[in-house]
Amino acid sequence: MTLAYVGLGANLGDPRRQLRAALDEINDLPKTRMTASSSLYRSAPLDHVDQPDFLNAVAQIDTDLAPEALLDQLQEIENRHGRARPFPGAPRTLDLDLLLYGDATIASARLTAPHPRMHERAFVLRPLLELDPKISIPGKGKANALLPACGSQKIERID
Ligand code: ATP
Ligand code: CA
Ligand code: CA
Repeated sequence: MTLAYVGLGANLGDPRRQLRAALDEINDLPKTRMTASSSLYRSAPLDHVDQPDFLNAVAQIDTDLAPEALLDQLQEIENRHGRARPFPGAPRTLDLDLLLYGDATIASARLTAPHPRMHERAFVLRPLLELDPKISIPGKGKANALLPACGSQKIERID
């Protein structure tokens, strides 16, 4: 089993409902068990600022799925929630990013792990630190040491 972390985000439709449903669907994935999930957070968009605020969370899972098989499953969940990609950074009904797959470093055509931008995003670091205050991001260092650089990003925990 590998301990992995999935970042969830949504800012179209009913984001709270989509995040709750997605957490259930992640827990129900084959060869996978959700071991913890963070609170929900509300964050302001970082680029394309003229779009609704996001709801975000992070799930911790134990999985026997290989990394790309896990990504396939996450993308199927996104698709079931009507995810469209009209342009990069577009508002979305559901975004599921594979943040960490154990301490593996992966660079394939479809998958980069750790997620290449997670270390500079408060909406990832805050919920991740809630799940494991001592967590490190391979190649980047301790998440709690990376958070201060995200100080200008607007985010609040909402439950
Ligand atoms: P960002 O990656 O900056 O958060 P995004 O989530 O909006 O942006 P998407 O359109 O959801 O980007 O994903 C684009 C592609 O990223 C996907 O098709 C997928 O193959 C690839 N990708 C690479 N690494 C990962 C990862 N760790 N998790 C999810 N997708 C990844
Ligand atoms: Ca993303
Ligand atoms: Ca994504």
